Amino acid sequence: MLQPSTITPQDLGQELAAVVPGKDPELAVTIKRIPVSQLDLSSRIIPVCEPTLGGKEKEYVLDCLESNWISSAGKYIPAFEEKFAAECHCKYGVACANGTVALHLGLAALGLEPGDEVILPTFTMIATINAVTYTGATPILIDSEPCTWNMDVEQLARKITSKTKAIIPVHTYGHPVDMDPLMEQAEKHGIFVMEDAAEAHGAEYKGRRAGGLGHAAGFSFYANKIITTGEGGMITTNNAKFAALTQNLRDHAFSSERHFWHKYIGFNYRMTNMQAAVGLAQTEQMNDFVESRRRNAALYSHLLKEIPGIVTPPEAAWAKNVFWMYSILVEDDFGMTRDQLRAYLARHGVETRTFFIPMHLQPIYYEAFKGQRYPVAEMLCQRGFYLPSASSLTAQQIEYIAGIVQQAREEAVN
Ligand SMILES: *Cc1c(COP(=O)(O)O)cnc(C)c1O
Repeated sequence: MLQPSTITPQDLGQELAAVVPGKDPELAVTIKRIPVSQLDLSSRIIPVCEPTLGGKEKEYVLDCLESNWISSAGKYIPAFEEKFAAECHCKYGVACANGTVALHLGLAALGLEPGDEVILPTFTMIATINAVTYTGATPILIDSEPCTWNMDVEQLARKITSKTKAIIPVHTYGHPVDMDPLMEQAEKHGIFVMEDAAEAHGAEYKGRRAGGLGHAAGFSFYANKIITTGEGGMITTNNAKFAALTQNLRDHAFSSERHFWHKYIGFNYRMTNMQAAVGLAQTEQMNDFVESRRRNAALYSHLLKEIPGIVTPPEAAWAKNVFWMYSILVEDDFGMTRDQLRAYLARHGVETRTFFIPMHLQPIYYEAFKGQRYPVAEMLCQRGFYLPSASSLTAQQIEYIAGIVQQAREEAVN
């Protein structure tokens, strides 16, 4: 049977062991699910994220139940695909079970084989690299750039080989990757670009939306993403053949010639009509959610940017960051470490989350990348965390949270 990796943080060596965050701190107040409008800051934790389901979700889901269309056929699937793709300035959307399989489906459609290489950032969520691993191809890592925290496109040229078949830029925490120079490299070498846009619904690069910046993209609609279907994902693309192929592969690769006749190894990666019903209602509100998150981020940054040792999240001149998570770095002159500040916030009922642990430090990928170092990703892992970021967050809550950070700073230096 499968055995887990036995690598511990100590096995990484003293320096890297210090990069890996500890356990999450205990929250002071137990969760009470009460509406935000009845909010009493002293009796409710502020979760790091939660969905906002204030539109037509209920109406559309009831329609599925009442009409008996609850599985993976039904009108909400194409309606959601069309509307969401249009929001991404894309021609085609292919809905699927989650964000991980959206990436896997896209890579599977390329026909990747062992020996092929796929370049991705080390600073990402595990799903990005696992999607590559599922295909048998070899993941090749790249460090982040300090200014946007995204993959450093300038380092791409050094990583591209004759075996490179795909690049997966990840629009981290809602900030788009610098795509023009990336696409230039990719086109020059005939490499496929599959954006991991799981965190970047509505984000823009030079006025163009994430999801339509590469050859295809994978989105997630997990409960903490900017729009959600509970579980769900979608591929967006402008390539008709790619859309048709991924649509076929998500449904066991049934052939159109005759039933039960299969010419590819397909998958069951389908989304249900009920999930798509929620997704359609969510997409109708997507631009409002994006504006809320941007407004919330502006307020957070306004309140936090003068506090010594707090680095507020980036937004390049060419970028529209959608602040999927409002992310900050804690530097030495704050007077408390990142983990101490998180514990302080937890004692005041504020839930937070540390940044990703880079892929080269993951127990399961440790051997594959042994000895490789990615200093920017390691710094981000050591110093970064995100504050509550739901679209439904109120100005009152943000002021409360920023006040606790300020109070922590004062206690730390006095
Ligand atoms: C959430 C996320 C995924 C995976 O999405 P699931 O729907 O949870 O499978 C992939 N990549 C990134 C960057 C994510 O944040």
